[in-house]
Amino acid sequence: MPELDLRPLLMIPGPVEISPEVRAAHDGPPPGHLAPSLIEAYGLALERMRTIWDAPPSAQPFLIAGSGTLAMDMAAANLVEKGSRVLVINTGYFSDRMVEILRRYGAEVTSLGAEPGYAVPLSAVEIALQRESPQAVFVTHVDTSTGVRMPAQEVARLARTHGAMTVVDGVCATGAEALSMASGDVDVYLTGSQKALSLPSGLALLVVSERMLEARRKRSAPPPYYLDYLAWQPIMQAYEERGKAYFATPATNLVQAAPVAMAHILSDEFAGLKGINARTARNKHVAAAFSVAWQHLELSSICAHPEDRGVTMSALKYPARTGPELVNVIRAQGLVVAGGLHPKIKSTYFRVGHMGWMTTQPDLLVKAVRGVGDGLNAAGASVNVDKAVEAFKAYLESVPA
Ligand code: PMP
Repeated sequence: MPELDLRPLLMIPGPVEISPEVRAAHDGPPPGHLAPSLIEAYGLALERMRTIWDAPPSAQPFLIAGSGTLAMDMAAANLVEKGSRVLVINTGYFSDRMVEILRRYGAEVTSLGAEPGYAVPLSAVEIALQRESPQAVFVTHVDTSTGVRMPAQEVARLARTHGAMTVVDGVCATGAEALSMASGDVDVYLTGSQKALSLPSGLALLVVSERMLEARRKRSAPPPYYLDYLAWQPIMQAYEERGKAYFATPATNLVQAAPVAMAHILSDEFAGLKGINARTARNKHVAAAFSVAWQHLELSSICAHPEDRGVTMSALKYPARTGPELVNVIRAQGLVVAGGLHPKIKSTYFRVGHMGWMTTQPDLLVKAVRGVGDGLNAAGASVNVDKAVEAFKAYLESVPA
C-alpha cells in the first residue's frame, strides 16, 4: 500500500488495517439491501461465519449493523430476565462493560475478577460455578484493556458440566484465537468487524447455539426490538438461502466487504495448515515474534504469565522515564498505537494491536517494530532497533513445523 508512506500505520487493537481487496469490495455506490449481489454477499458471509466459528448446523449466525457492544447487548438482552443469575469472569474493561449491560437487564451478577494483567484461574471459575449455580457464564476471550486471554473453550466446558450456558466476547479474538463451537459448549461467540476479521468497523457478528435460541423462545417478555434474535433469524435464514428479506436496513457496503475479508482467513495457509487453523497458528506465531522484538527493545508485558497473553495484541509497560506521551512520540514515527485502558493501571502501559490480515504482511509488522523502537529512542531510551528488527524477522521467517 504505497499511501502508507504518507499516512501513519494503524496498529491499535482495532480498528486495524484492511486489505486492498476488502477496501475495493467496500468502496463504491451503496447497493440496495435487496440487490442480487448484496444477497449473494450476505449469504456467503453467513456461510463463512459458520466455518470460521466452527459452528454446528443447528447454530445461527447473525451479521447486523452495529458495533461489538451491540453484539454484547444482544447476547444479554435475549437471555437475561429480572433476577437471572449470571457469572462474569472479569479480566478488565470490557468485562466491566458486560457486568453493566447485564445489570441493566436486571441480572444478579457475580463478577469474578483477577488483578489487572492476570487471568482468572479455572479452579476459581469452578468454585464460583458450584457456589452460584448461574444460568450463564460471560467471559471475555481476550480483554483488550490488558491483552489477557481466558481459556474460553475450557471455561465453557466447565460451565456446561454445571448446567450453565456460556457467552464469549470474542471482539478482540474471533478469527485470530482458536475457539470452536462444534462441541456445543459455547452458546454465543460474538465479535465486531473491525478486529481480527479485518473489516472496517460497523458490524456486529454473533453465532448463537440452538440452546440459546430456545432460551429466547421461552422468555416471558421479548427483548428490545432491534436486539431480538427472533426478529433477525428469519432474515439471516433468507439471506443464507439467497432470498430477499427485510427487518432493518443492513450496512450494505460492509456486507459486500464481509465475505472478502472472511475469504482471506479461509484461504490462509501457514505451517502446513489451512483456513482458520492456519490463521490462528499464524497469529500465534506473529505474537511470539513480537515478544522477541519487545525483549530486544527492553519492553515488558503487563501480563505476568506468557500463557495468559492473547495473540492479538501486546500490552507493554512504559519504560522508566517515559509515560503516556510516548504514544505521541511513536505516532511521529508513522505508527499509531494505543495508550492504556484499564482504569487501575491506565497511565503505566501502551497497546499494540497485531491481528488479522496484517499478520500476513511482514512489511507492515516490521514497520511496527521499527516505529516503536524509533519512538523509544526519540523519547530518550537507547535501544538497538536494527537488532530488534533482525531478531523479529528471523523469528517471523522460522515458520513452525
Ligand atoms: N469487547 C472487547 C473485548 C473489545 O475489545 C471491544 C472494543 N474494543 C468491545 C467489546 C466493544 O466493541 P465496540 O467498540 O465495537 O462496540
